[in-house]
Amino acid sequence: MKIIDLFNSKKPVLSFEVFPPKADSPLDDIFKALDKFAKLRPDFMSVTYGAGGNGNKRTVEISSRIKNTLGIESLTHLTCIGHTKDEIDAILSNMSKNNLENILALRGDLPVGEKRLPDGKRDFSYASDLIDHIKKHKKSGIFSTAAAAYIEGHVECKSLKQDLLNLKYKYDRGVDFLITQLFFDNRRYFEFIEKAAGIGVACPIVPGIMPVFKADQIKTISAKSGCSIPADLVLMMDKYGSEPEEMKKAGIDYAARQIRDLLEGGAPGLHIYTMVRPVSTKLILEQAGIR
Ligand SMILES: Cc1cc2nc3c(=O)[nH]c(=O)nc-3n(C[C@H](O)[C@H](O)[C@H](O)COP(=O)(O)OP(=O)(O)OC[C@H]3O[C@@H](n4cnc5c(N)ncnc54)[C@H](O)[C@@H]3O)c2cc1C
Repeated sequence: MKIIDLFNSKKPVLSFEVFPPKADSPLDDIFKALDKFAKLRPDFMSVTYGAGGNGNKRTVEISSRIKNTLGIESLTHLTCIGHTKDEIDAILSNMSKNNLENILALRGDLPVGEKRLPDGKRDFSYASDLIDHIKKHKKSGIFSTAAAAYIEGHVECKSLKQDLLNLKYKYDRGVDFLITQLFFDNRRYFEFIEKAAGIGVACPIVPGIMPVFKADQIKTISAKSGCSIPADLVLMMDKYGSEPEEMKKAGIDYAARQIRDLLEGGAPGLHIYTMVRPVSTKLILEQAGIR
């Protein structure tokens, strides 16, 4: 099933993001976690892709487990930076063999410390190039393509306006829905979807929610992604930063409140960056009144 059909038929569409274990770790733990996530009845689950080649085969394998064993729709992340067109074609063919129809088309990032790609590895510069390429694949008809959006702007982009225009260009290549980078201030999400709609981005824009459990985690996330930390979250860190259990409870409560407010404001779905924590995800959904 194409995930866009879910957005066309129900609201909210609930999704969980998981990541594959390291290449030398067994898959048993993630498979056990998937069983627990399945009990929370998500509409789909997405599996991240290690840009630069780490754990790539496992992304398709885990997506296949979600779809073909658990019977839940899956969204397979795919980054293009550092891949050749032939490599991407091989992944798309493998996806099609596994009956995987939904792709989150991403650029990805250069490995830390590298400024440019080696010769022969520069077939793709942006996610929009990947989307164009997917459309040319012999099995392109089976794929539905989603992409990433940055409500506070992508860290590399010099202006929010330009980032939005780049998003519109990407959307015009053929994007069925967008998932946002994490954010903590819902007002920015609602402002962003208005602006995006204003320039003709007419697909569902799903908020990505990252629950925070540790004060230093918030700082790292914010520094890496450029997302702002609202005053109430700063106060929460000050109050509970040195009490891990209290901080975790407060983080669950914050995510649940954020979710309730987003749904009241009309968000088409919720994409939870679960960090492969089914128990905390369950608590958040219960507190938000969703499950
Ligand atoms: C929901 C979500 C899931 C993610 N999953 C993964 C994952 O599984 N694996 C992983 O490695 N990373 C993942 N990422 C991170 C992502 O790979 C990085 O944020 C990366 O830096 C940008 O990828 P993109 O697809 O958004 O890039 P793009 O859309 O290509 O944008 C990248 C930058 O280029 C600019 N740009 C775009 N088009 C043009 C153009 N034509 N000319 C000039 N500038 C342009 C944009 O404004 C932006 O600054 C995810 C991010 C999100 C939000």
